[in-house]
Amino acid sequence: MKKDICVLGSTGSIGVQSLDVAEKSGFTVLALTANKNFKLIEEQIRKFKPKSAALYDEEAAKELKIRAADTGTKILSGEEGVCECAAENRADVVIDAIVGLAGLKPALCALNAKKDLALANKEALVAGGKLVLNAVENAGVKLLPVDSEHSAIFQCLQASPPNRALKKIILTASGGPFFGKTKDELKNVTAADALKHPTWDMGAKITIDSASMFNKGLELIEAHFLFGMDPEDIDIVVHRESIIHSLIEFDDNSVLAQLGVSDMRIPIQYALTYPERYPSPVKELNLADVATLTFYKPDYATFDCLNICKEAIKRGGLFPAAVNSANEEANRLFREGKTGFLQIAELIRTAFNVTSDKKDYTLNDIYETDRACRDEVLSAAGITR
Ligand code: NDP
Repeated sequence: MKKDICVLGSTGSIGVQSLDVAEKSGFTVLALTANKNFKLIEEQIRKFKPKSAALYDEEAAKELKIRAADTGTKILSGEEGVCECAAENRADVVIDAIVGLAGLKPALCALNAKKDLALANKEALVAGGKLVLNAVENAGVKLLPVDSEHSAIFQCLQASPPNRALKKIILTASGGPFFGKTKDELKNVTAADALKHPTWDMGAKITIDSASMFNKGLELIEAHFLFGMDPEDIDIVVHRESIIHSLIEFDDNSVLAQLGVSDMRIPIQYALTYPERYPSPVKELNLADVATLTFYKPDYATFDCLNICKEAIKRGGLFPAAVNSANEEANRLFREGKTGFLQIAELIRTAFNVTSDKKDYTLNDIYETDRACRDEVLSAAGITR
């Protein structure tokens, strides 16, 4: 079945790959959104001819309006414009590939408009877990994971019995560029070192999160919300080759895994075509060429971000949102050379000091927590806004 889709975050790594999948699958693109990259979104508008497009940044949106005046695409701006695109009436599925908490409101807008949501933006689910799940339930729509690990689990679950008897989820982690390094060796690493990911080509924020292993912590929280598993029943195993994308274990200790080459177009395409499977532009997996698959225990002592995320999900409520926001700020400071790699975890930990432990929360509570945690990180790093 051909689908009509909206791509939020169309100028990013996942957004561009989503458009590639859409083009090869013959899907219609109804709306595109980004932050400020007016040059690339203009090219995308000319190619895909969407009904509407939005830039979050008002100045960039003004520029786009002038550049795309001849195209017939309606140009919108700000969060309101992005949300209007997310709620596009005719869409079958909306892919949220915005980076960071900025993707939460558009995700809720898509769900409230009763659209199936293909979610790459893990921060939205981590920060707004209960709100996102409630919106999915109220709208009676599907929440389709795009993250390769969660897509793998989702695919394995298709093969599991109705009563599931699911014992465990096993998330694989590449280990990032700093696998095997000691804290001492990590003291002076730079953002340029951290951006050299061994197996995946991704946006800058998630690449740094992979280096600090905060990304795996986010994925543990994401798996908890998506699959309703207790954090104690979600294991992490380092698998350097990124060929096994994750596994599930049943009560009888039988384990199912999903494998494939490390190319995000496989999980993106499955989320967009679900429940159908289309031929893929991605190359086949050749296990004889791969030859060896290796597995290691994560180093919890060196990569404290894993412990931080486990603690956040155990505390529940606003704590996942808090550590997510603190990480967004710490990650940015590290990328800008304003803090060291080992300080990332120390800065994120400060979020625990300023977070309310109320269990029930609103979108406003998440935004207040976001502000408080970002301020706390800046103050701990000795930086004034
Ligand atoms: P990128 O940084 O490459 O792209 C981010 C996109 O979000 C860009 O289109 C950007 O626009 C847009 N954006 C940024 N801020 C805002 C804002 N305030 N409002 C609206 N749009 C905004 O990120 P990735 O594609 O790497 O990642 C996107 C999401 O997918 C993340 O949550 C990440 O964790 C997740 N993910 C990514 C994977 C990957 O392989 N890249 C794998 C699995 C998950 P602009 O270009 O104008 O700045």
